[in-house]
Amino acid sequence: MGVNVEKVFGENVFDDAVMKVRLPKSDYERVKTLMSEGGVIDEPLADVVAQAMKEWALEKGATHFTHVFQPYVISVGAEKHDSFVSFPQDGKVENTFTGENLLRGEPDASSFPSGGLRATCSARGYTAWDITSPVYVKEDTLCIPTAFCSYTGESLDTKTPLLKAMHAVSKQGVRLMKLFGLGDSRRIFSYVGPEQEYFLVEKEKYELRPDLKFAGRTLFGAKPPKGQEMDDQYFGSIKPNVKEFMDDLNVQLWKLGITAKTQHNEVAPGQHEIAPVFSISNVALDNNLLLMDLLKKTADKHGLVCLLHEKPFDGINGSGKHNNWSLTTDDGINLFKPGKNPEKNQLFQLVLACTMAAVDKHAVLLRLAASNTGNDHRLGANEAPPAIISMYLGDQVGDLIDQIIKNGKAESSLSSGVLDFGIKKLPSLEKDPTDRNRTSPFAFTGNRFEFRMVAASNTIGDVNTVLNAMMAEQFSDAVDALENAEDFDKAVQEYTAKLMREHQRIVFNGDGYSHEWEEEAARRGLPNCKSIVDAIPVLLEDSTVEMYGKFGILSREELEARKEILLEQYAGVRNIEARTMISMANTLLIPAAVKYTKKLADTVLAVKDAGVDAPVQKELLVQVSEKLAQMKSAVEKLSVTTDEAASKEDSFAMANAYKDDVMAAMADLRKPADELEVIMPKSEWPIPTYGDLLFDA
Ligand code: ADP
Ligand code: MG
Repeated sequence: MGVNVEKVFGENVFDDAVMKVRLPKSDYERVKTLMSEGGVIDEPLADVVAQAMKEWALEKGATHFTHVFQPYVISVGAEKHDSFVSFPQDGKVENTFTGENLLRGEPDASSFPSGGLRATCSARGYTAWDITSPVYVKEDTLCIPTAFCSYTGESLDTKTPLLKAMHAVSKQGVRLMKLFGLGDSRRIFSYVGPEQEYFLVEKEKYELRPDLKFAGRTLFGAKPPKGQEMDDQYFGSIKPNVKEFMDDLNVQLWKLGITAKTQHNEVAPGQHEIAPVFSISNVALDNNLLLMDLLKKTADKHGLVCLLHEKPFDGINGSGKHNNWSLTTDDGINLFKPGKNPEKNQLFQLVLACTMAAVDKHAVLLRLAASNTGNDHRLGANEAPPAIISMYLGDQVGDLIDQIIKNGKAESSLSSGVLDFGIKKLPSLEKDPTDRNRTSPFAFTGNRFEFRMVAASNTIGDVNTVLNAMMAEQFSDAVDALENAEDFDKAVQEYTAKLMREHQRIVFNGDGYSHEWEEEAARRGLPNCKSIVDAIPVLLEDSTVEMYGKFGILSREELEARKEILLEQYAGVRNIEARTMISMANTLLIPAAVKYTKKLADTVLAVKDAGVDAPVQKELLVQVSEKLAQMKSAVEKLSVTTDEAASKEDSFAMANAYKDDVMAAMADLRKPADELEVIMPKSEWPIPTYGDLLFDA
């Protein structure tokens, strides 16, 4: 492709190298410290930085600046662009950008969801520069990543709570390190590498599918003759037009300093994945939002449409976002690394026990944070983890836990061993200590956990807020319990064994997709929330309110608001889907079938006129007419049911009415339509089929 990655990488980012050249030395040092350690930047310093940023951005051709923020639940960054230009009285035009502009923004935030936190009449919302996430130029605009909160200080985004949770886990983690005599660790970083799955379809075909346009997923569509049963797509060679798209995307990402690294076809036809190298969680969050935006815009340039929905097509794989997460100290100790002798690594064992306890205790909260309405179709379906949270730890760590649970401590550990291909010319490879378990929602992968449940179009803010908060809570409890112990080693061992015993039900190394696991999980008392709606109430349960309250991450009021927003969001999405189906049935599918019955009737008459019997044509006419009648009554039923659901006063009752009644009515309408699709001539079917959408892009 001929791009010099070294040269273009970070070209549009106001990064360390740029600052070093453009800021006075002492200011540069101060900014650098603030960036790595946090803290408040004063206005005179902000003025100097803003001036340098403006000059740099103007050289890059920027004309505007914007605070980028991300209203809660909306998975795209929001931007309000202001021009640099000011027009003073004397008619001279100049470009201005002050420290104040850099630090604070006040978008009119009244139309973003706030769950009642902010009445429309008191709509003030503020954005504040997140100094730890880099500023960049995109589409002639200087973009400043920010956190977003209301006039009274409640967070209105997923970034603010994440920053608070990162701070909490760092603080509690450092206490833990001190206890282990590792006082050189001054901070704990939470790292995330999100693998993003997506589908590509041809724009021309997409335009003919109102369901994809309005709902992001197909609401009608019979299974194509070929799906993914041949397993011939995964890691298959990438088609030329898709390769061109990926090349273009990579260059744009690299210019923005996003470390796009891996790309490949995914399991379903038309499905792909892109993964950057991991980074600090808040930067990973910002980068992932940018990535989703660029996926869409770049696809458009290439005559394609990128679908980020979790389940755009029934019956084949959905898309997720695998959240690879780890905790590492500033002096390079990865808390999830078993090391050479895991049986002697008490810190690792304790952290592991804390993780088991945290995942078990906050299973529903994790399930909720990973979810959105679309994920309801994916969890438990093809190639997606079930809605039950469990942890996969692999042989080595699994054995370690078994020993600790049985004997109170571990004496030995299984070695990972060497993989020998048995061919002289191929090298022997050192094996990873864990195999992969693709069916586990929360899998240990050697030095990190891969949370595979996360919805493809969701922000990763919520998920990482829970992950870091729950670890902060466990670390804090552990330190409280251990800091005054007389015999520290013994106390740690006992505490670790106790946690592992209490929470061993969360560990499951078998096939998470199997029906037996669902039964087994029920026996173990593990929660199984099939729908996001069932999980939403966990936001106000004591375990959640206490954890978030303890570390000042989210208040009860904020959680209350989040609950409302999620319920509204669910009802809103289902309402759009139902109304799209009604409209498609009434204006596209039913008219097509009506037209076809007329053709058939004419044929029957014409053939009879010619003195020949027409049993097949007649039979087909009867069949099509029957399905047509079923569709007509189903569409009327769906219309009534949707109106009923929409009229509910209580948000929980409304979400449930959509989940149960409207969804059932939608399925009843889809069935005869999909049956019609496969008996009607392709030329008479008014919308592109699954085959057209999946195999042509
Ligand atoms: P896979 O084999 O699952 O595709 P990769 O090695 O490609 O795994 O990594 C997937 C993601 O995990 C990448 O974004 C990678 O940067 C990230 N990752 C690797 N190590 C860590 C770590 N210690 N913490 C967080 N993420 C990590
Ligand atoms: Mg993976």
